[in-house]
Amino acid sequence: MSAGEASIENAAASELVDQAMGKDWLQRYSNALLGVFGTPQRVLVRGAGCQVWDADGKQYLDLLGGIAVNALGHAHPFVTSVISSQLTTLGHVSNFFTSPTQIALAEKLLSIAGAGEGSKVFFANSGTEAVEAAFKLARRNSMPSPDGKPRTRILALEGGFHGRTMGALALTSKQAYREPFEPLPGGVEHLPFDDIDALEAALDDSVAAVVLEPIQGEAGVRPLSTSYLQKARELTTQAGALLILDEVQTGVGRTGRWFAHQASGITPDAMTLAKGLGGGFPIGALVTFGSKVSALLTPGQHGTTFGGNPVATAAALATLHALEAGAVLQNADDVGRFLRSSLAGMRRVAEVRGEGLLIGFDLDGGYAADAVREALEQGFIINAPTPRTLRLAPPLILTRLEAQSLLDALPGILDAAQRTNEAQSTGDPA
Ligand SMILES: *Cc1c(COP(=O)(O)O)cnc(C)c1O
Repeated sequence: MSAGEASIENAAASELVDQAMGKDWLQRYSNALLGVFGTPQRVLVRGAGCQVWDADGKQYLDLLGGIAVNALGHAHPFVTSVISSQLTTLGHVSNFFTSPTQIALAEKLLSIAGAGEGSKVFFANSGTEAVEAAFKLARRNSMPSPDGKPRTRILALEGGFHGRTMGALALTSKQAYREPFEPLPGGVEHLPFDDIDALEAALDDSVAAVVLEPIQGEAGVRPLSTSYLQKARELTTQAGALLILDEVQTGVGRTGRWFAHQASGITPDAMTLAKGLGGGFPIGALVTFGSKVSALLTPGQHGTTFGGNPVATAAALATLHALEAGAVLQNADDVGRFLRSSLAGMRRVAEVRGEGLLIGFDLDGGYAADAVREALEQGFIINAPTPRTLRLAPPLILTRLEAQSLLDALPGILDAAQRTNEAQSTGDPA
């Protein structure tokens, strides 16, 4: 046996042994974890930069980044060192007290959001909690209009995703997520996507707020047009309704700008943030723009035990500093353009959408789930938000070389996935 053959045989043998380890963990998972996520794809044990490793020792290029969360990749040295030193200094204080990192992070967010005088920040622990705070803000915009009509309506969009708690779920449009939990908080109406006429027809002074994602991530990376966002700003101002932008997925550099709406030149009344904000550490935020909107929630009307704690705010502050110091937004813009233009010319790719490193592309058939599985086999983590759409939301530090490795493998991945899917639908073995 040659040395090459021996090493292949060793690798195969160790893969068999290790596979049992991954399978063991998944068995224990299904015995112990509530079954709301289905079976996880792999058991991950370690990460560095844009790479992760599973319990069987297999390495992957992470092109999903924990769903647009790991903005600086995995185990970023600066962020992890800031988190550990904060933990060993002061970990939690409750909101009867504050801490320097909380204040500094709020100031930093207001500065990068270009938020004017009187703008404020509320810290939560997740995206859905940030949206709940925004929902309560919308309810407080209840002053009857001049003709005495109460402001009870909230407008959101078909395809919108805003989270899983009851208020955020009321804003989310997908029936399968909503129906099992009705009745949901009332007053929310879902309008057709990017339809200015429908918005104009629905918006009057009985509307408390319009809630939009600049790019719908979960719906398959669908961007709202600039003209829609601008018109929404104009119409909500006229009607006295709040314009609330859910930037939980699109915010914090994901689109190559600090916030996606900055591309359209508008300023919202409120904005929700979470996913990328802590560089992987859980934190959410609601930003309220201007003193009038910021005064809608008064002492005692909202709160949280963990929100804004020293460790989470230190993690976010470190993340924002590292994004800035490394010119990472510029990288997201560059590598995003490179990926999108390369994908646009690729066989089996029907349409490419997105900004920066939030990218969705439609396939020429409904085999996106097969493509995700095939990509995993070949060492790439990607995601299928719809049956024919693939999504990339990698760390914003992804290099062109790493992007190129996906582009090199993708035609083969898509061919194999299409064959698997076809074989399944005709009943033949693949
Ligand atoms: C992920 C997401 C949420 C919910 O965030 P969680 O942290 O999962 O609660 C809300 N809005 C948008 C746009 C999201 O992408």
